[in-house]
Amino acid sequence: MTDTLIPSFINGRAVHGRGARFDTVNPATGAVIGGVHDCIEADVQDAIAAAQSGFALWSAMTGTERGRILQRAVQLLRQRNDELAALEVQDTGKPWQEAQVVDVASGADCIEYFAGAAATLAGAQYPLKNAFAYTRREPLGICVGIGAWNYPIQIACWKSAPALAAGNAMIFKPSELTPMTAVKLAEVYLEAGVPPGVFQVLQGRGSTGALLAAHPDVAKVSVTGSVPTGKRVMASAANTLKRVTMELGGKSPLVIFDDADLEQAVTASMMANFYTQGEICTNGTRVFVQRGVIDQFLARLTERTKLLRIGDPMDPVTEVGALISSAHKEKVLGYIQIGLAEGATLLCGGTAAQVPGFEQGNFVAPTIFSNCTDGMRIVQEEIFGPVMSVLVFDDEAEVITRANNTRFGLAAGVFTRDSARGHRMAAAFKAGICWINNYNITPIEMPFGGAGESGIGHENSMVAMEHYTQLKTVYVELGQVACGYR
Ligand code: NDP
Repeated sequence: MTDTLIPSFINGRAVHGRGARFDTVNPATGAVIGGVHDCIEADVQDAIAAAQSGFALWSAMTGTERGRILQRAVQLLRQRNDELAALEVQDTGKPWQEAQVVDVASGADCIEYFAGAAATLAGAQYPLKNAFAYTRREPLGICVGIGAWNYPIQIACWKSAPALAAGNAMIFKPSELTPMTAVKLAEVYLEAGVPPGVFQVLQGRGSTGALLAAHPDVAKVSVTGSVPTGKRVMASAANTLKRVTMELGGKSPLVIFDDADLEQAVTASMMANFYTQGEICTNGTRVFVQRGVIDQFLARLTERTKLLRIGDPMDPVTEVGALISSAHKEKVLGYIQIGLAEGATLLCGGTAAQVPGFEQGNFVAPTIFSNCTDGMRIVQEEIFGPVMSVLVFDDEAEVITRANNTRFGLAAGVFTRDSARGHRMAAAFKAGICWINNYNITPIEMPFGGAGESGIGHENSMVAMEHYTQLKTVYVELGQVACGYR
């Protein structure tokens, strides 16, 4: 038991929730990083009251004023990149070589984008007969963000940046498994000049999230998490007709035609399955390869995957770190056993990986199954670990039907040198995000969101700003009130 406590952040101050304590663990070492106290009803009430005061100040500023403050947060985040990236590695188990260039940096890019956009919020004017109407884009009020554990600070930025730029207050609940960096983001916002109460962090388990999602003074809930959690939050939000954004799970297809640049397709397949130990919602975990190139593809894929370096996440050469928890590691290993029992061919990996000095770490070797068929559970269910399923196809019509045979619909990718075919595939995929000749690229300028059971609404781009505002219409009479009454 350690004395270190990771706080919540309410009304501009680090405080501890009044609920039970739980521990957060370093996934690579198994060591307890610190304790966290659940926020309970009374803490939620404190945060709501502070958010109401913060919102009154913040929403009264002009977009330019808010943008100026948010730009200062961008500078602070970039200055503190390495310190925050190291915390993210400790909390998530992901490799330093990723965290140092992606997690904090992409969060800062996101705030920078929305800081610039804050001043551009505007309505429209509608000329009418002896009258006109105009629209105002107004903030919603208090928004709640609920995060997953794979990209903790990036998710907190993706939700808070458009919310704050539009003039809202946000209460953010990080995953119980990764409580550390959202509090650092709250400190950064405060130091930049964001008023207390405008961005708050409530630590806790699912029950804290549920309290927030049900609160009548909350106008919107944005969740990044699994499909079952998304459905529960939506059902609860429906009682007070809150707006929702849902960024949920997936089992996305990546289709490789025989005219593709094969080396590029192998690289993308690896990135789409093994980056962040496979713990990425958009991953292309169903890799469909056209029959003519399957042997060549598998040979090169296996050869390169065996070269991936698994190890101490803080070692700059490590390419594959530790899975988030021992329970998750067991779940992933369980799916590997299911794949073997279902008759898929194991080409590499398939076991826990031993890292000397990190015997308690949750390491799983990057795993490739070939000879997979559409009905297998490893092909149908989200594993959220480093497990790739390779399937063979013959023609375009067949692969589209098979790729779309899922209740998810987050992402899809296609590799081909035939650009017309690339666009045809993108149009035919049932997915919210498609990549042609690349995979998992999510620049802030581009809308990000899922179709089907993978989600509702979008993050990033100006589309996200719309999700954090409501349109008010104002009619202005320039003539007389028309009336047949005497
Ligand atoms: P979970 O659904 O288990 O949890 C997500 C968040 O919701 C956590 O903060 C969790 O708290 C909270 N939560 C749990 N129950 C409730 C409830 N009843 N009411 C309100 N909040 C609740 O997902 P994971 O954290 O395990 O993340 C993995 C999942 O997230 C995968 O399915 C993955 O695909 C998806 N994901 C989607 C992304 C996208 O953008 N589409 C991106 C990243 C991940 P606690 O942690 O305490 O349980």
